[in-house]
Amino acid sequence: MTHVIDGNAVAQRIRDDLSENIDTLEADGTTPTLATVLMSDDPASETYVSMKQDDCEEVGIEAIDIEIEPDAPAEELFETIERLNDDESVDGILVQMPVPEHVDQRAVLRAIDPAKDVDGFHPENVGRLVAGEPRYKPCTPHGIQKLLAAADVDPEGKDAVVVGRSDIVGKPMANLLMQKTEGGNATVTVCHSRTEDLPAKTRQADIVIAAAGVPEMIDGSMLSDGVVVIDVGINRVEADTEKGYELVGDVEFESAKEKASAITPVPGGVGPMTRAMLLYNTVKAAGNRADIEVELP
Ligand code: NAD
Repeated sequence: MTHVIDGNAVAQRIRDDLSENIDTLEADGTTPTLATVLMSDDPASETYVSMKQDDCEEVGIEAIDIEIEPDAPAEELFETIERLNDDESVDGILVQMPVPEHVDQRAVLRAIDPAKDVDGFHPENVGRLVAGEPRYKPCTPHGIQKLLAAADVDPEGKDAVVVGRSDIVGKPMANLLMQKTEGGNATVTVCHSRTEDLPAKTRQADIVIAAAGVPEMIDGSMLSDGVVVIDVGINRVEADTEKGYELVGDVEFESAKEKASAITPVPGGVGPMTRAMLLYNTVKAAGNRADIEVELP
């Protein structure tokens, strides 16, 4: 029987544990606070930000919601970041990506105080992760690590194939899996758009992490028996639904499930974990501010 990994259930457990930590911080007079900054009128970005706000409210994190007109000068965004950096009541700052073209995205990532960079994208935090001294692990790969643990999958000694080399998923995922720590110690291969013969790579994998953003590109014929499949992809494809589309992953679920010992669905797999780990990083930041050792799940 294939284990369909329930990301919603694992994320709920993490949120419950976080709520207890938040109570401890509150008792000490520290309210964990996340500021989200949206400089876009893209409906998907608006939805992501409002979901993050709702998540915060649910667990007791204060959420500050800042919106900047997409055609405002870049300085307005940088001044906002500077103000949030200086505000001692703010623990985490999240600038929703992508920012408009006239704003230098890399400069935005560098502008955020690394201690408040709960996405983990500031070069200092990327460096710390690679050096094996992570401050905030990026939310999606960290969530995947937690999902694997919850499914009793230990990557140690396994062949893991990461499909995708983005800064937010593929690269940090590969890094976490190869680290000499619990949840790591895998032999990692990173594949991308220039990889020749992807099926040959995925077929030799014990764990496949699919993060390419190509609808259902990995099917059962590309997998070996007993493989663990983590599907990161969230792709909108046209469908005869009320919204006119449906969400599918990078994995063709039915044929992959035939081969897999464990697999994540889309939706309900990695997505809820990404959201939970943002809360986790925010609580961790608040713990650092309060100088309280909070016990995180
Ligand atoms: P990206 O576009 O930045 O990177 C995609 C990567 O996939 C690139 O490195 C590219 O080289 C590789 N790639 C593209 N086509 C390929 C192919 N045919 N074969 C092999 N490699 C190929 O995307 P991203 O930001 O890393 O996101 C990847 C997917 O994950 C998207 O669908 C995105 O929506 C989704 N995502 C989901 C979550 C979540 O919480 N579930 C979080 C972040 C991203």
